[in-house]
Amino acid sequence: MEGLRMAERFDLIVVGSGPAGSAAATVAARAGLRVALVDKSAFPRDKLCGGAVTGRCVQYLDTIFGQQITPGLFRTLTRLRLAYKGETMGVIKDAPPLHMTMRRDFDAALHRHAAAAGAQVFAPARITRIDPAAPRVELADGRVLEAALLIGADGCNSATARALFGRPFDPADVSFALEVELPRRKGQFRITEIDLAAANWGYGWVFPKNNSITVGVGGMHLRNPDMKIHMRSYLEQFVSAQEAETAMQGCKGAFLPAGVYRKVPGAGRVLLAGDAAGLVDPVTGEGIAWAMRSGQLAGDACVAALKAGNPDTALRLYRQELAYVQREIDRARQIQRLIFFSPQSATVVRTLVRKPRIQRAFLHILSGERDYQDISGKTLLNMSMQFGKSLLTRPRVSGGAQ
Ligand SMILES: Cc1cc2nc3c(=O)[nH]c(=O)nc-3n(C[C@H](O)[C@H](O)[C@H](O)COP(=O)(O)OP(=O)(O)OC[C@H]3O[C@@H](n4cnc5c(N)ncnc54)[C@H](O)[C@@H]3O)c2cc1C
Repeated sequence: MEGLRMAERFDLIVVGSGPAGSAAATVAARAGLRVALVDKSAFPRDKLCGGAVTGRCVQYLDTIFGQQITPGLFRTLTRLRLAYKGETMGVIKDAPPLHMTMRRDFDAALHRHAAAAGAQVFAPARITRIDPAAPRVELADGRVLEAALLIGADGCNSATARALFGRPFDPADVSFALEVELPRRKGQFRITEIDLAAANWGYGWVFPKNNSITVGVGGMHLRNPDMKIHMRSYLEQFVSAQEAETAMQGCKGAFLPAGVYRKVPGAGRVLLAGDAAGLVDPVTGEGIAWAMRSGQLAGDACVAALKAGNPDTALRLYRQELAYVQREIDRARQIQRLIFFSPQSATVVRTLVRKPRIQRAFLHILSGERDYQDISGKTLLNMSMQFGKSLLTRPRVSGGAQ
């Protein structure tokens, strides 16, 4: 009949080929599943992101993709300046490494790994409809894809989550970030910078890359109604007012689902991974590593369920394995309250810098060398006591943060 196209049949459809989707497609295709990997963009494509790849991320890059940290794709930095409203709180010369990358190149590499593992790529492909019950997706060119299982790895504005739950996230809960890309200049911007007061319940960053410098500010959306003002004044710490004006013209923004994960990451035969499942650390803003890990776990769960002949068990298997990641985000939320409850107090940041044990714990978390679970109870208690003290002694400052 005219207008009706035969559906192309797969074991698994993965929607979105960022770190989560490429990881899911790679492990599933490698295990022998027939995988359709659908992305609205052709690769390489841009993705707004600081592009800081942590130690945690390095581990998943290797185990999932066999991808190493190569100088062409990454710039590795071990020097870090911690600041508070522009005031230097400390320069750490031997911080655990952060590997700075451009997501355009990084994601294209992961996408290639997924295709090489055997996933059939549909990109660019605009999806006009997702039917979670089937599961089935319809593409703008009329093609219809059907599978036993579907993984939604389509980011913070996930169309898959919308098809399942009506909307991806409550806008009141998410974070928002702005970034600009500055040209690299000789002798300038050679270390990573973090300013813990550049935004409310968030921070500002300078991440030097191989060919440019990413400057950004981000924090809880509701607590930063004027993020552009924060961005502008943060930029002016580093460049002239004129240059900041020019840079602001290229300023871009995006939402991050930080600390707002879905307890049940999916429904029926649809699993959500990465940002679509809300797996961004609310303290550091790190999302790439958990995106890759959750994609891997979702892909593995689909493989196990299909091999057992029971696709309906995939979501349950995935939930069991994802529980650790969700607990880590719970712990991060607790620490987030400790750090940002008193954002006016520089004492909080000085504490980070001056107490070696706490500073080390913070750096290990920031660089993904350790999980929150690995920080000893004693250090956490110490942190709480220090932050508690700083609350009692904080200077009175009017306006700004809540
Ligand atoms: C400003 C900013 C700075 C950040 N900095 C860092 C950082 O330095 N380090 C870090 O670890 N994390 C950082 N993050 C978080 C990180 O970018 C995300 O957590 C990560 O990209 C999540 O990966 P993902 O695969 O889930 O989603 P994404 O990377 O968003 O990929 C989703 C994919 O789905 C595709 N897609 C979307 N909708 C559809 C559709 N309808 N149909 C088909 N395809 C679709 C997109 O084209 C995209 O390729 C930052 C985020 C922001 C916004």
